[in-house]
Amino acid sequence: MSDASEHLTEEEEVIAPEPEDQSDDSSGDEAAGDTEMDFLRNLFSSSLGLGSADKVLDELTLEGVAEYIKSGKCENIICMVGAGISTSAGIPDFRSPGTGLYANLQKYKLPYPEAIFQIDYFKKHPEPFFALAKELYPGQFKPTLCHYFIKLLKDKGYLRRCYTQNIDTLERVAGLEGDDLIEAHGTFYTSHCVSFSCRQKYNLDWMRDKIFSEDIPRCDKCKSLVKPDIVFFGESLPVRFFTSMKMDFPRCDLLLIMGTSLQVQPFAGLVGRVSKSCPRLLINMEKAGQVSLHPNTKSPPPFPSVRDVDVAHISTCDDGCLAFAELLGWKAELEELVKQEHAKIDSLAEQEKAGESEGAAAEGSAAPEQEKE
Ligand SMILES: [Zn+2]
Repeated sequence: MSDASEHLTEEEEVIAPEPEDQSDDSSGDEAAGDTEMDFLRNLFSSSLGLGSADKVLDELTLEGVAEYIKSGKCENIICMVGAGISTSAGIPDFRSPGTGLYANLQKYKLPYPEAIFQIDYFKKHPEPFFALAKELYPGQFKPTLCHYFIKLLKDKGYLRRCYTQNIDTLERVAGLEGDDLIEAHGTFYTSHCVSFSCRQKYNLDWMRDKIFSEDIPRCDKCKSLVKPDIVFFGESLPVRFFTSMKMDFPRCDLLLIMGTSLQVQPFAGLVGRVSKSCPRLLINMEKAGQVSLHPNTKSPPPFPSVRDVDVAHISTCDDGCLAFAELLGWKAELEELVKQEHAKIDSLAEQEKAGESEGAAAEGSAAPEQEKE
């Protein structure tokens, strides 16, 4: 929901004032101070022979980052992920040009395409949103190898938190739990009644049934609209996004950015919140953060930047994670995890299918009898 940025940025400034170390758009004086400090730091470390000992990464490659993790100096990894980690699962990227989403919306007779994700429009005309949700509803929720790589980071005790822009719930399906995850743009996993005095909660199955029966979801208690907990244009990001970010980023030892081109604020701005010596690894199909942003938001620095601890690995997220896992000695374990979890999902889907066809068969046999009567 890229246009959410304007409102969200205002929100961010109220809730979470910029920390001093958000260097790249700081004032000239501060920047000069930083350069001076860096110069002095370099001078001291080189004249004292500390240069190599101080170096966080031996080389600016995937290998260098893997060695850093193996060295034991990296305890807190933060993942920042976007639509690119879910494309191999068949989840369309709403925002990507070329998916034809906005071109497809003509049939809904919207005043303008973005209205479909605008909260005020939705409250008056919920039909287009739910029609689109049905059209785009994934046939299967099967996390990708990249999702399981993040789960592996958690299992091995490295994951401080995963910040996701995705609303597809695949991180949860892969086994991340509430505390592991910040769903910055909300989630389809839960829904709530839009009435402030009610706010009744509904689960994914309930919402899916409504979407597929083309029933506009209404609250069982008060008959108000029920909306999936995704962040619409004109809505705030979850408060947890702002509170967690302040706790997490100063303690980050490695920022792993995957499947996002860092174009949506305030999410993209998170990359500037780690310390100067914290390595940032981007695994993405293209370099990120170089596209001009919404005029009202502060641009994050181009990525990778001039920092000497930034690494960009240009590949799909799955390929990048597999290569990374291999360097870490986790490849077999990761592949086994994917295989096992996918088998579980497949067998559940088959059970459901069997249940459905049994149900259909029962209906089928009942029908002729009714006809006889
Ligand atoms: Zn209600």
